[in-house]
Amino acid sequence: MKSAPRPQLPRRAFLSATLALGAAAMIPLSAAGRAAAATGEPAVADCASWGARPSSSPVKVVPAPAQKIIVHHTATPNVTDYSQGQGFALARSMQNWAMDSQHWIDTGQHFTVSRGGHVMEGRHGSLAALRSGTQTVEAAHCAGQNTIAIGIENEGTYTTVEPRSEQYAKLVELCAYICRQYGLRAYHIYGHRDFNATQCPGDRLYALLPQLRRDVAARIGGDPTAPVWPLLHNGDSGDKVAALQHLLVRRGASLQPDGSFGPATEKAVRDFQALVTATADGWAGNQTWQQLVVPVRRGESGEAVKAVQRLLTARGIPTDVDGAFGPGTQSAVTGFQNTAGLPADGVVDARTFARLLG
Ligand SMILES: [Zn+2]
Repeated sequence: MKSAPRPQLPRRAFLSATLALGAAAMIPLSAAGRAAAATGEPAVADCASWGARPSSSPVKVVPAPAQKIIVHHTATPNVTDYSQGQGFALARSMQNWAMDSQHWIDTGQHFTVSRGGHVMEGRHGSLAALRSGTQTVEAAHCAGQNTIAIGIENEGTYTTVEPRSEQYAKLVELCAYICRQYGLRAYHIYGHRDFNATQCPGDRLYALLPQLRRDVAARIGGDPTAPVWPLLHNGDSGDKVAALQHLLVRRGASLQPDGSFGPATEKAVRDFQALVTATADGWAGNQTWQQLVVPVRRGESGEAVKAVQRLLTARGIPTDVDGAFGPGTQSAVTGFQNTAGLPADGVVDARTFARLLG
């Protein structure tokens, strides 16, 4: 959920909605639903099924695949009503909270998994965008990541207990489908606290994420190991600092990427952390790197490419630091990936970036 504490949802609203839905809870599978099932798509109740309000203005659709998945908990009670109607009532309550209290245009997340294992579409258009595999709906679930990350809310509070096995199984299924549709790897799955200063998704669900990545990798293949980022702070120097500075410049900082982490770099880090609602401590660690890095590939240009070129050179693969990702940079990247035991796809995603820094 969002970093701000969410007010307790009114219990009476849940109960009455659940009763009202009782008989209508079984939604027949449409022709589209049957076709989707053939592609490995889990059963997802769309906005119309759970009775969503229209968005207050048109949702924005980004014409690019999502780059990652972010797991949340709703921080609502761990209910023992596992019916579909309960899930639908939750979806409506969350949308009401988002629109009436937060004044967002629609609910914040892309998808919701109820305690009963019912999967629901969140913000309008999320399901169609996912099915396209080429579009992402802009959402409001994680500051700094809302145009590039799919947000999944898991009903409940997982600070001291784990999700129910039925709920977890649906989360695995949903994540595997999202990875397939957007061409993501299991290590592109994160928790909300990896980006923002928040307890979400709770200590116990957060501790389950390595298992979640393994379970998703078991379905889609590939290495589930999450990237490990260096911790840099005032007084450090070298090519890792220069890479950090290039990424900060890309986000608007006025800095000379000189490889020296002094007061100006510390201020740039703090300003950036405040901008993306990360822990504003001036140290560049997991949250900061994960907010800063973007996948780079052939044909792209700019400061992120310069960061990659500088790191390749530092790893003994001389590369012109010209900010243009051409054939030379691509062969340097695949060369590095080969020596690092990574798939040599020439794309610098979070894992390759972290290994370049390692
Ligand atoms: Zn969250």
